[in-house]
Amino acid sequence: MPSVMQSLSDRYEAVIGLEVHVELKTGRKIFCSCRAHFGDTPNSCVCPVCLGMPGALPVLSDEAVALAVKAGLALGCRINRRSWFDRKNYYYPDLPKGYQITQLERPICEGGAVPIETSAGKRSIPLIRIHMEEDAAKLIHRGNETLVDYNRAGVPLIEIVSEPAMRTPEEAKAYLNALRRILSYMGVSDCRMNEGSLRCDVNISVRRRGDPDLGIKCEIKNVNSVNYVGRALEEEIVRQTALLEAGEEVRPETRRFNEDTGKTEKMRDKEGAVDYRYFTEPNLPPIVLTDAWMDAVARSMPPMPDEAAAALVRDFGVKPENAALLTASVRLTDYYTRCARATPYHAVCESLFIGEILDRLDRDDPQEYLPPHALAAISALMGEGKIVSGQAKRLVHLAAESGEDPTAIAARESMLKISDEDALLPYIDAALAASEKAAADYRRGKVTAIRQILGTVMRESGGRADPIVAGRMLEERLKN
Ligand SMILES: [Zn+2]
Repeated sequence: MPSVMQSLSDRYEAVIGLEVHVELKTGRKIFCSCRAHFGDTPNSCVCPVCLGMPGALPVLSDEAVALAVKAGLALGCRINRRSWFDRKNYYYPDLPKGYQITQLERPICEGGAVPIETSAGKRSIPLIRIHMEEDAAKLIHRGNETLVDYNRAGVPLIEIVSEPAMRTPEEAKAYLNALRRILSYMGVSDCRMNEGSLRCDVNISVRRRGDPDLGIKCEIKNVNSVNYVGRALEEEIVRQTALLEAGEEVRPETRRFNEDTGKTEKMRDKEGAVDYRYFTEPNLPPIVLTDAWMDAVARSMPPMPDEAAAALVRDFGVKPENAALLTASVRLTDYYTRCARATPYHAVCESLFIGEILDRLDRDDPQEYLPPHALAAISALMGEGKIVSGQAKRLVHLAAESGEDPTAIAARESMLKISDEDALLPYIDAALAASEKAAADYRRGKVTAIRQILGTVMRESGGRADPIVAGRMLEERLKN
């Protein structure tokens, strides 16, 4: 019923705001020096502070503040030179102190925006605020029992709250992708949704177009992939639109996205505003940022990923789609820049890196896989016509495994291209002898038959024959 859906979407529109929790990549907790790494043995990284033992006092991590400020600077926020923590009181098994330390009244950052690009073009999604807080422990539900892993208690978080300014699932997905790209490039967070280092709560209401009210919103909690955010929103738009169209009210609810059914389900009614009895956290002094400290943080930041990508296109002729891949992290950008500076054969270098190295890295350092000068040397061998493309690819991995000089490996492994006619002659003769039918076809006018003979030359020479010279020799022989 596309026409019915179309007429509905002409009359209704969605209002979407996202609350994104991002774990700061300090490697330590926010108020104690316990390690904070995904995948550690449960409850192995805890101390009296993060377990909420009586008398244990929090000490704020400077590094966490620096990363929160970096996030704010990258997103164009106003940085509050003086902010403070508040205590949010509630009991839950994942909260050993019985309260969470967060920022309510004066967050560290306000305003700012996330630039996005969708099929409708470019726009900016304004932010309300970014505040710092501690993560709760992780509850693990298994059948009838629930286990608690306190390793996550006290991990530093920022919560990034957008204005309800998005109108489509596509915009919400673009917003998350842009946020992930910027924050991971800035080294603020890993932003891995599958590991929970970026978590997203989705607020959505549907209203009649032109209505100044936002409508009654539902919150979909903890959606853990960008795709699921898109699907959860699509489902919720259909559900809320159907309610409004039937003359019913949308009830304010907290919902969850069921990954198995692809539907959203009610978790609980949203009560009126819960009173968390906030008050200023008495055990922590305010955060006061000096000019000198702010300057040092700003100076330590890399350029924005879009600027870095534009520089790769401008300086080394990198294709725009590859430039986006090469600016997934500062380490990748730096590595590739060093490679490209060491060789004039930029196109070869780009295709070898994208095709042979990038996918194998996972979380490894490209520098450890293959030093930049080695990739530059292989690019030069191919760019100067000394090795063919297949051998260049093989050489990348041989050099990576052995750590030897690529030129020495190419010579020892007989990888250098055969362009000399005398050296090619035995391969040409043998291929012609083995391809009588193709040769006859060619002579009868089927010019494409030569490809099969050239294929034999290439195979028998181990891919080393210069295909241009060999092709010309074959043509000459077949014409005589
Ligand atoms: Zn601790």
